[in-house]
Amino acid sequence: MEAVAREAGAQLGLRSNDGTAWGRWNDLLVRIQGTPTLSQTQYISMALVLPPGTVMQSLNAIISNKEMWKNLGLKHAMVRLDSQYGIVSYILMPAIRTPKVEDILDTFRKFTTALKPVIPSYPSKCEKCGRDVNRLILVNSVPVYMCDDDLTRLQQQFTQVAAVDRATKPRWGLAIAMGLLGALVGAAIWAGIGLATGNIFYLVGLVNGFIVAVAMQWGAKKVTGPMIIMMILFALLSTFLGVWLWITAVGAQLGYGFDLINGLRVYFIYMGEAGGQAFLDYFFTLVPTLFIAWNVAKRAKAAKPTLDIQV
Ligand SMILES: [Zn+2]
Repeated sequence: MEAVAREAGAQLGLRSNDGTAWGRWNDLLVRIQGTPTLSQTQYISMALVLPPGTVMQSLNAIISNKEMWKNLGLKHAMVRLDSQYGIVSYILMPAIRTPKVEDILDTFRKFTTALKPVIPSYPSKCEKCGRDVNRLILVNSVPVYMCDDDLTRLQQQFTQVAAVDRATKPRWGLAIAMGLLGALVGAAIWAGIGLATGNIFYLVGLVNGFIVAVAMQWGAKKVTGPMIIMMILFALLSTFLGVWLWITAVGAQLGYGFDLINGLRVYFIYMGEAGGQAFLDYFFTLVPTLFIAWNVAKRAKAAKPTLDIQV
């Protein structure tokens, strides 16, 4: 997707870095990005930077006009307004093949033409101080005008923020303690449901992963890669403890007393006899937990301060 995005950008006279084409086009600041070859979902994103003075009410009216997008042959659901970065974008998600450059350009023209009436010309003035400036730069993938002084200031500020972030160490001890506590709570829920219903709903695996993830994040303050792996292991541990606790409690109900060692023995016998069936508990814990872990990793990455400047 990166190559076609670059090619489409080049035809519009945009500059490009990696998979991002960007620049000033028809008095608008625009960006066309293609996802890297190996990314999970493949799409082209085209965006307009909202100039100061954009009337959000009018913009929202156009964005929410489903009929208009449909008539243009575009998908209303793929139009996104990101107020945090001040951009409005359209996601072109091809069904199977990589879209042709002409298709990208066609979509891009329709998208920008639809929005043009409510987006004023972008003034070539510094984003920060308002001085006239000609140089357009790309800051964290958003095209902006910025004067030398303010660019230097931005870099200095970032250096400080990054230093504070580096100085913030993950709280491993508390993360592990909270992870264990979460695993125990999850295990108690698992055993409780087992006792109450005489059955286990695999959905409980999701609960285990969720409790452990929330507890560990709360304890850690700053999440790292190894911590995410530990999160997955604690969720599996939670399921193991849950089944063990449940079997032990059932034994107690049958009059064998609450004997954890005996419960563990029965569990291993059951696992030996049930074969793959016994591992379903872990499978149904692992799948949602991997999904949760992936989200936690994504959030941790987004929380890390970054300053990427392309001139
Ligand atoms: Zn400035």
